[in-house]
Amino acid sequence: MQDVLRLPPAEICAMQDARLRRMVALCRERHPYYSAAWRGLDLDAVQGVADLWRLPLTPKSALMEAPERFRLDCTGLPVAERALWEVVHTTGSTGDPTPIYMTTHDWQGYVLLNRRVAEISGITERDVIANLFPLTAAAMGAFVRATSLAYGAGAAVCAAMPGAPVGTFGIQRSMDEAIRMVERHRATVLTGVTSFVRRVLLRALELGADFGSVRMCAVTGEASTPALRADMRALMRQLGTAGATIFDRYGSTEGGGLSQCTEEFDWHNPAPDLVLHEVVDPATGRSLADGERGHLAVSHLDRRGTVLLRYLVGDVVSLDRSACPHCGRTAERIVGPVVRTKDLVKVKGMLVNPALLLARLQAVPGISEFQVLVARPGGDLGMDELVVRLAPHPGVDAAALEAEVVAAAQGAVGVRPRVVLEAARAIYDPEQQAKATRFVDTR
Ligand SMILES: [Zn+2]
Repeated sequence: MQDVLRLPPAEICAMQDARLRRMVALCRERHPYYSAAWRGLDLDAVQGVADLWRLPLTPKSALMEAPERFRLDCTGLPVAERALWEVVHTTGSTGDPTPIYMTTHDWQGYVLLNRRVAEISGITERDVIANLFPLTAAAMGAFVRATSLAYGAGAAVCAAMPGAPVGTFGIQRSMDEAIRMVERHRATVLTGVTSFVRRVLLRALELGADFGSVRMCAVTGEASTPALRADMRALMRQLGTAGATIFDRYGSTEGGGLSQCTEEFDWHNPAPDLVLHEVVDPATGRSLADGERGHLAVSHLDRRGTVLLRYLVGDVVSLDRSACPHCGRTAERIVGPVVRTKDLVKVKGMLVNPALLLARLQAVPGISEFQVLVARPGGDLGMDELVVRLAPHPGVDAAALEAEVVAAAQGAVGVRPRVVLEAARAIYDPEQQAKATRFVDTR
């Protein structure tokens, strides 16, 4: 089969042009949101990717407010295109889950995308994937799609179903049971939320578990940093794992997964035939040149359930369309650092990037768990306060660590924090929380 990821860029673009025309034709007739939003536009002028600027950007809030309006009306289309196969959810700032609908056609496209994710990241049919994502109240993309990844790769998969109790049937397993499952199945790939997988590695060390089969952790669900990933590799080596690869699975429930051919490197679009990426200026709607940092917008090129065009994911990144220096693939790569715009906050009048602060703190050795709080103890008239809740590793000098944390925070964001020492489990209890909450704004 022809490898679309190695086509000359002009051929990829021609393929995308044809698919975009078909997608726009379907949406103008059958998409409740776009058929209304595009009224009055010259849609016949949208002949390809170069004409995308003619279509308005779609803010995340539009999807969150009315997800049903983003479903294509598939009446009269072939069964495989219209039959609902899977619903996954994304959660926004409101915490209300937003459904993303996938028909048979979409699911098969997703398995194809995952086959390529696996190929790029080196997951094969010889792998056994342990799905360590938690059970959640609404079907979460990462949990459900662990099967698409396994099916796409031809790998085996088992699910531990950890996390806080949800529902009435008590089917969750504890972290210790999850660790036994990894041992029993001789799992080679652990996939889950970064902070949870890290706790699994720590607990496996405590238990003296046999993780000799594990070679990769494929993690996502929260921002992680080079320091955190290095920490996880060190834990894997301590455990005597077969390999110590951390695959940082960047992507979105709406746009799909991306893949790294090399650790700590850019993310390949595994499916330029299904998903188009642009980096745009949200003020003008114009696409920015490759290498310029701006807002990531994704467009579906061949979907039948929930269809999104020029959808703003909420991340600031840049694109690189040159051939990958590591693997030679030609489809576009997303270049970090990924800055999540919804996460920027004002502290004492200054715009602070919590990701930067968290990255700096994660790089301080000797920390077991931590959490940053922004509070305003005096109410509306009070002063903002930056608090770091801190749990040192056993045997670490708490006073020295505290001083180091204060210096790191001040260096990162220019605000001096108050440090409160606490037990690791008081900050993040993996039996109760799907992921560690590293940053809380209580104002
Ligand atoms: Zn590559």
